[in-house]
Formats: sequence, C-alpha cells, structure tokens
Amino acid sequence: MRSRHVLVLAGTAEARAVLARVPGHSVLASLAGRTEKPVALGVPTRIGGFGGEAGFRAALADATAVLDATHPFAARMTERAVRLCGELGVPYLRLTRPGWGSVGLRYPDERACARALPEGATVFLTTGPGSLPAFEGRGRALFCRRVDPAPARVGVTWIVGTPPFALEQEIETLERHGITDLVTKDSGGARAKLDAAAALGVAVHVIERPLNPGGEETHDIDRAAAFLRKHAPDPRA
Ligand code: NAP
Repeated sequence: MRSRHVLVLAGTAEARAVLARVPGHSVLASLAGRTEKPVALGVPTRIGGFGGEAGFRAALADATAVLDATHPFAARMTERAVRLCGELGVPYLRLTRPGWGSVGLRYPDERACARALPEGATVFLTTGPGSLPAFEGRGRALFCRRVDPAPARVGVTWIVGTPPFALEQEIETLERHGITDLVTKDSGGARAKLDAAAALGVAVHVIERPLNPGGEETHDIDRAAAFLRKHAPDPRA
C-alpha cells in the first residue's frame, strides 16, 4: 500500500516550528531547493519543484491534506495549492506569520518601489536576489542580501548571511555600507532590520503582500499543529 501523509509546503521558520511539534506523524515536507544547505526539518523531506501543475497533482494523490507553510510571497505555489486542493477535495490550511502593519512607505510591487527610491540612494535590498531586476539600471547603489554566495554581479554588492539577524548585526550592516534606504517585503516576523533602520534614520520601503489567494489561513502555530495531527495520525498511536 502507498504511504499517505500530510504534504507540508515548507521553506520558512513557521514550517520548521510546526513540524517540530508533531514528531512521529506521517508528514512529507517539501522544499523548493532555493538554498544550498537547507536546515534539516527532522521529517522525511523532498527537495525541488514538483514540475509544474501536473507534478503537483501527482503529489496530491498521496496527500491526506496540505499544510501550506510557504513564505507569504511564494504566490505561485500557494495559488496552485489552494486551487488544486479545492478542486480535488484535499483539506488545505495555510500557515503564515502576520505582516508588520503600516510600517514604512508601502508599494504594491517591486517595480513601483524601485521607481520611488530617491536619486543617489544607497539601497539595502532584503527582498532576495530574485527581485534585483526591478531595481537594477536606475543608478542607485545596490546592496543585496542572500543566503548563499554567488558570482559577482555588476552594480550589486552581495551581503551573504543566514537569518535570523540580531539588531546589532543589522545596525552594523546599515552603518558599514552607508545605507540610506532599506527595501523589504512585508514578510512579518523578526523586526530587527526595521528597528535598526529606525534607530539610524534609514528610510524603510515595504512591498505589500500578494493578493489573498483564498483558502483557509491561520497565523496560529498550535492550530496548524492540530491540523497536522488530525490529518496525519501518529502511526505508533
Ligand atoms: P513561488 O514563486 O510561489 O514558486 C515558484 C516555483 O517553485 C513553484 O512553481 C514550484 O515549482 C516551486 N516551489 C515553491 N515552493 C515550493 C515548495 N515548498 N516545495 C516544492 N516546490 C516549491 O515560490 P518562491 O517565491 O520562488 O519561493 C520558493 C520557496 O522559497 C518557497 O518554498 C518559500 O517558502 C521559500 N521562500 C520564499 C521567499 C520569498 O520571498 N518568495 C522567502 C523565503 C523563503 P514547480 O512549478 O516545479 O512545482
């Protein structure tokens, strides 16, 4: 008989936190494979894209439910998971951290933010290297944080580091590079970079979350853990 499990779409601290609460339960975690050395999740884990919609449909055949604990900006994965779980009747719950509220100057997307950055700005991008194209070629000095080292890129200085970052680290980074403008997604969670920017008078620019894709959502780790326990009973129990 094929093994059945709750499919946990991971890649976030929230996914790690909820998985740590359900040892022994039948879950399969899934990582997109964006980082070279992902933190071990302590449960069976598959790594890499599903191969588009058809691949994800195939993965759902073995899933008793889907806990979507991807990053709030992993919009493609989430849209597909909500839609196909709905269509196939697979229970779905999305676990996200709350956003930061009204902090900073707000933009609907990266391009709008890039257009608004002041001339002569020295910019710290904490939106991931994937967002660089929107900011390049506009004459701003760009510092971009990423997890893994990467080849040099003209006009960009990489700042390599793995979260979480302490307040002192963030202050040191902003000071060392003379940052005038910090760009972040409204990811929520740790506020150290926001606090560092506030302490140094650095302007904060926030990209707003993608439109809500529907499907049930919670910010409550306990509720997500209960969902996992309900749909992935402990085989030892
Ligand atoms: P995305 O744009 O929504 O998805 C792009 C493609 O990546 C999907 O079509 C899928 O490939 C694959 N994918 C995404 N999440 C996956 C998962 N958990 N397991 C297997 N495949 C996955 O996602 P993204 O923004 O590139 O983010 C990729 C991953 O990085 C997510 O798991 C997310 O939690 C994590 N992450 C993202 C951000 C961010 O700012 N976007 C920040 C921190 C962490 P196929 O079409 O081949 O199935």
